[in-house]
Amino acid sequence: QSGDERAASIPRYVRVNTSLWSTEDAIQYYLSRGFTLSNPMDSSKGFTQDAHIPDLLAFAPSTSFADDHAYLGGKVILQDKASCFPAVVLAPPPTENSIVIDATAAPGNKTSHLSALMKNKGKLYAFERDRKRYGTLQKMLATAKCQNVIPTNADFLTVNPEDDKYRSTTHILLDPSCSGSGIVNRLDHLIETDEEEDVTNDRLAKLAAFQLKMIQHAMKFPKVQKIVYSTCSIHATENEHVVRSALDSKEANAGPFSLAPRDQVIPTWSRRGLPEEMNCEADADSVIRCSPDGDCTNGFFVSCFIRGNKLHESNL
Ligand code: SAM
Repeated sequence: QSGDERAASIPRYVRVNTSLWSTEDAIQYYLSRGFTLSNPMDSSKGFTQDAHIPDLLAFAPSTSFADDHAYLGGKVILQDKASCFPAVVLAPPPTENSIVIDATAAPGNKTSHLSALMKNKGKLYAFERDRKRYGTLQKMLATAKCQNVIPTNADFLTVNPEDDKYRSTTHILLDPSCSGSGIVNRLDHLIETDEEEDVTNDRLAKLAAFQLKMIQHAMKFPKVQKIVYSTCSIHATENEHVVRSALDSKEANAGPFSLAPRDQVIPTWSRRGLPEEMNCEADADSVIRCSPDGDCTNGFFVSCFIRGNKLHESNL
């Protein structure tokens, strides 16, 4: 399949911004605009509700939202299905005393998703180290009318986990720069990726070392209970191998941190990690892969670390 053919096989995914709108109202709005509830791959006017992600709608690949009032007003956000998994897996609590970090936030799709899941309550610190991309993040937060987000133009690795502002953080989303090798359809425009056609092993090794450092830093936050690590890469070097190294690190031992079991990581999604690239079958089953070749999404990887020792069957 050519790149264009693969891109044409991925629906146009639209996430309803539940801070501003309900999915029921969104469905009525699009019905009134001439769309019909039918398979979007069979009809240019078809759309459906997604089976795995609440509040996600799928339209035909050619659908344009450039003039759509709901999109322009921040009531819906164009976001590939796979890129919606991390916030759903992190499941930040929607309470006034929640403290959550999005460590690598721009352009802000996942930040606005987290904010909506938190029902705009508590505090969501969103870090972005690149100045220009930080500007894009601010625009996205304004359009989506996120009220609980505190954007900060800073390198997450310089954030002190013991700082009074951050030390009570319980949930961290880590979606760092990656090779972008899973992207076949640029729904998430402005994703920061390494655009080289052929990512060299050397480049992958450097990215993996940086990604591991980010996870280890997140594990130093004294109250953190859950860390979701994701990439839009299809390379095991940036995915399973980084997770394996993170589990073997002194930070994971000190936590202690282990992988959340499958039932906390979208259990109904059948494509899991590559067992031959992980320490054991159970670890592979704990993480998610998405493939452009079979899942109608971009290539993606999601893992979830939780504080506590893994319950081995012998302990049950
Ligand atoms: N989560 C974003 C979304 O869904 O819209 C996409 C994030 S993108 C893959 C990675 C972002 O992390 C880039 O904007 C990059 O500039 C930023 N970044 C990379 N290293 C960082 C660091 N150490 N601290 C803060 N931001 C960083």
